[in-house]
Amino acid sequence: MSELRFNELRGEQVDYAIHRQERTFLPTREHCPLCPTRPGGAETEIPFPAFEIAVFDNRFPAFTSPGGASEVVVYTDDHDASLGSLPAERAESLMWVWRHRYLELGARADVDYVFIFENRGVEVGVTLHHPHGQIYGYPFLPPVPALELAADARLGGCASCELLARELDAGTRVVYESEQIVGYVPYAARWAYEAHVVMRAHRPSLAACEPDELRALAAALQALQRGYDALFERPFPYVMAIHQAPTVTPALDGHLHIEFYPPLRTAEKLKYLAGSEQGAGTFISDTLPEESAATLREAIARAR
Ligand SMILES: [Zn+2]
Ligand SMILES: [Zn+2]
Ligand SMILES: [Zn+2]
Repeated sequence: MSELRFNELRGEQVDYAIHRQERTFLPTREHCPLCPTRPGGAETEIPFPAFEIAVFDNRFPAFTSPGGASEVVVYTDDHDASLGSLPAERAESLMWVWRHRYLELGARADVDYVFIFENRGVEVGVTLHHPHGQIYGYPFLPPVPALELAADARLGGCASCELLARELDAGTRVVYESEQIVGYVPYAARWAYEAHVVMRAHRPSLAACEPDELRALAAALQALQRGYDALFERPFPYVMAIHQAPTVTPALDGHLHIEFYPPLRTAEKLKYLAGSEQGAGTFISDTLPEESAATLREAIARAR
């Protein structure tokens, strides 16, 4: 179905999944494949008249067994909802679904890294508007988690624990706090409104979290998303990336955190990855993380 090629010059894998060209592209809501199958209506991906959360194999997978996994996670049967607008209990259930998928996919010999993510908005290439996320089970350790492990080695311990302590110490970039969770715009954020949601306790993955931590995580993600939407009073596009410990043998450590990469710099202006970012790998930002954090903190408070 797909083919991995190693790009020697960059030292990275590229996945060729050419069947994905055929995937459903921005259907009208009557033809949404993630809506429930209504009595008398056309059959969708979900053959039930109503559901809470649905998980199934992606029909247009980037990775397939025995070379990894690609799954779709539909958050709700309500076409017009979002992560932030779900009832709190549903958002909490989603954390348990993610946890279950991390454990089940992570136990597979062909999955070295379980990556749960959400692309939101056409600005980041969304092809279906129905609220959903995805899970890739990579048959190798991808570069971004590998960089985070290298940061652990460089800092002589857990990088997330160390950076969280620094952010709490500085205080100027913190946008959200609860007993279990801290949200902040990182010191060296790449995106204007980048935010990281970090467990206070060192938890390698969702599987290591206590039930109250999963509840708190759902609440933090919802508060942040509502704040994002309040920022420019429009649905706020982003990529949400959940970073956890790899599922390789022998085991490697990690520290559960969720990173948001929003492409908007202002209500209308997008940040494009251009010459410096693509050709040299250096982000040029025209906003300061402390200033974005102040604006975002205020928006989160407003949206509460
Ligand atoms: Zn739908
Ligand atoms: Zn840690
Ligand atoms: Zn990370």
